[in-house]
Amino acid sequence: MAADVGGVTPRPYVPVVTKLHAVIGNDHCVENEESSTTLVRNPATGQEITRVPSLGEAEVDAAIARASRAFETWRHVTPGDRARLLRRFAAAVDAHGEELAALEVANAGHVIGNARWEAGNVRDVLEYYAAAPERHSGRQIPVPGGVDLTFHEPLGVVGIIVPWNFPMAIAGWGFAPALAAGNTVVLKPAELTPLSALRIGELALESGLPEGVLQMLPGKGSVVGQRFVTHPAVRKICFTGSTEVGRTIMAGCADQVKRVTLELGGKSANIVFADADIELAAARAPYGVFDNAGQDCCARSRLLVQRSVYDEFLGLLEPAVAGVVVGDPTEEATEMGPLISAAHLATVSSFVPDGAPVAFRGSSPDGPGNWFAPTVLAPVDPRDRAATEEIFGPVVVVIPFEDEEDAVRLANDTPYGLSGSLWTRDIGRALRVARAVETGTLSVNSHSSVRYWTPFGGTKQSGIGRELGPDALDAFSDVKNVFISSD
Ligand code: NAD
Repeated sequence: MAADVGGVTPRPYVPVVTKLHAVIGNDHCVENEESSTTLVRNPATGQEITRVPSLGEAEVDAAIARASRAFETWRHVTPGDRARLLRRFAAAVDAHGEELAALEVANAGHVIGNARWEAGNVRDVLEYYAAAPERHSGRQIPVPGGVDLTFHEPLGVVGIIVPWNFPMAIAGWGFAPALAAGNTVVLKPAELTPLSALRIGELALESGLPEGVLQMLPGKGSVVGQRFVTHPAVRKICFTGSTEVGRTIMAGCADQVKRVTLELGGKSANIVFADADIELAAARAPYGVFDNAGQDCCARSRLLVQRSVYDEFLGLLEPAVAGVVVGDPTEEATEMGPLISAAHLATVSSFVPDGAPVAFRGSSPDGPGNWFAPTVLAPVDPRDRAATEEIFGPVVVVIPFEDEEDAVRLANDTPYGLSGSLWTRDIGRALRVARAVETGTLSVNSHSSVRYWTPFGGTKQSGIGRELGPDALDAFSDVKNVFISSD
């Protein structure tokens, strides 16, 4: 590690929570006398993992002041050095991939296979954006009387607010491009799932990022997150969470004309046409909605099936749903874990009251933990709340449609527009419907939504702006135009 990187000297770091990995699985608590603390539980067992500080406004202000000071040096770190530091950070995440995955399994109930992918995704996103400082070039625009140049200027301190459903991956989608573009970052993890972000913050410092460049600030949305919105030194908010909270963030940002990226809720459609490979579409459909126990903003929670193959499709879907392996997330074979909390279990359950039109269900363990079996509702009135609201749990509604026009009408009959899939062998139809469905991302004959090389985000009330891919850097910088007279 270089002692001095581009004029910024890395300083020793006192971690907020030390040796997180060592406390997983027992009742050891880390107390902080100056702050209140938040209890963190394992959603698969209900057991307490640890306590994490819940920062107050004065502590947040102090962190923002550190981030502002660090910005004055970080922005001037040479592109090559900034790239090198981000590559080291990526290497540190890679070296601690198993540890980060274990934290996500314990804290968020993610199945181990997914958690490993998520740790790898943080590494990959860091590596991808590590290439940016040396390539994020401006333009030279032909003008009369001189030379015109554009520069990508960093914004300053960026506030990133993260939800509990993909704690470390979503954190990385924000901080990696923000840092690459020359900003400093204050990041608030969700109250329920702070552990992986806190560890990543430690790894950033261990890999040489100077103090104040990336700070993880655990605490309440109404305190820490809200302060990001109101503090004038925070120049941009990158928020991922519910549409309800996103609206208040956007309104708060308007006061200072603060830049904002919003990644919000979804109610995405999975459209199966009669000319599709019906067996494949039915075999894959459970994984398009039940992955991460349905706690996925991209969950295809409305299954629209052409009426002529509706019965055949449901017949194939039933064994596919029964085959989803639900249980202990530490087991390699497990495909679906628990819901995040007892409160969320109650919310999801409210969408399947006694007498709900349950066509069939998968299995789930008994005993402690927030378990809810994969559930298929059919037939469902398209105006039913299960068909219109984001459930954020393993519940899918199946609705028949008549033809292409009807499918597009149903798919677009929602205030959301995040993701979706369509299954057909007709390439013309695939293109027509892909263009007609109002979403930010859509996949044909697959359920892929997130690839770090490509833009991700929503339209309508699913959000504003795009993350990932080559465009994300623009979300964390402003274009400055400079004209130099040749006179
Ligand atoms: P949430 O909106 O309750 O909370 C998200 C984050 O915002 C948390 O860190 C929370 O502490 C913070 N927060 C809450 N109130 C705040 C306030 N007044 N000011 C500032 N910050 C505040 O969402 P959640 O329950 O954690 O996550 C689930 C939601 O996130 C779902 O709606 C889901 O669709 C959405 N989501 C969207 C995407 C996407 O990319 N579009 C990805 C993941 C999750």
